[in-house]
Amino acid sequence: AAMFDSLSSSIQKAQRLIGKSGTLTKENMKDPLKEVRRALLEADVSLPVVRRFIKKVEERALGTKVLDGVTPDTQFIKTVSNELIDLMGGGVGAKDLEPGFPQIILMAGLQGVGKTTAAGKLALYLKKSKKSCLLVATDVYRPAAIDQLVKLGAAIDVPVFEMGTQVDPVEIAKKGVEEGRRLGVDAVIIDTAGRLQVDEDMMGELRSMKAALRPSDTLLVVDAMTGQEAANLVKAFNDQVDISGAILTKMDGDSRGGAALSVREVSGKPIKFVGVGEKMEALEPFYPERMASRILG
Ligand code: GDP
Repeated sequence: AAMFDSLSSSIQKAQRLIGKSGTLTKENMKDPLKEVRRALLEADVSLPVVRRFIKKVEERALGTKVLDGVTPDTQFIKTVSNELIDLMGGGVGAKDLEPGFPQIILMAGLQGVGKTTAAGKLALYLKKSKKSCLLVATDVYRPAAIDQLVKLGAAIDVPVFEMGTQVDPVEIAKKGVEEGRRLGVDAVIIDTAGRLQVDEDMMGELRSMKAALRPSDTLLVVDAMTGQEAANLVKAFNDQVDISGAILTKMDGDSRGGAALSVREVSGKPIKFVGVGEKMEALEPFYPERMASRILG
């Protein structure tokens, strides 16, 4: 099943339960809201987020003056839609990268989530919008990660700066930014070392990188398949190193959608991009409105 299928059908069921006659009341929204609540929990959205969401839908639905000719089921769906958009960060379009000359983009994340792939994807994405890039490999703990970035760079024709594994990662990153300035690129994308789990070394290294580079963006890459855990990770990183946003990868996988729905509310930080496949082209800006209309089917 594709992501959101089950959530979509539950919301449609809720809509049918409301029907087309009368007005929205606390009473006739009770079962439909239960249905939506159940579906959100099943999608792996965290309980406090679900509770707040349901409460807001109820309040808004009861508190909004209904225009003539609008049936209660339509009014209900409109309210759910608005609140979904709000939950994911609002209807103002995708959250862009922060400006900078050059833009300095620090990529963080646990091992295996798709961080190195996302660094390459982002470089290609920027290249397509006529911005030149330099990729910087700083994962000195895993030579394979450096090789991987060098190969990705070659595949998309973006230069990769590396200094092997014997130099301090922060030093490599600093030299990388210098090289980026020398080359006159628009963006320097720094792939940092991942770890198997959150630990003090990783956070310490990220903090040092941030202090040394003053990046325009610090993006945490998380795996959509991990649901609300992804949102908790964004919060944990943000609490410790202050990130600017998240990249949600593997949105093409058979995940339930809880991550996309939870990240903003749990962490206060936006999802800026989503990864939708293994290919370098498979990166899209995250639009809350588009995601909400996908959910509503
Ligand atoms: P890292 O350890 O976080 O740097 O992870 P990698 O970038 O090496 O990616 C780990 C695996 O996930 C690789 O097999 C990638 O091809 C795969 N991957 C990354 N992003 C996506 C995505 O958006 N969709 C899918 N299906 N696979 C992805």
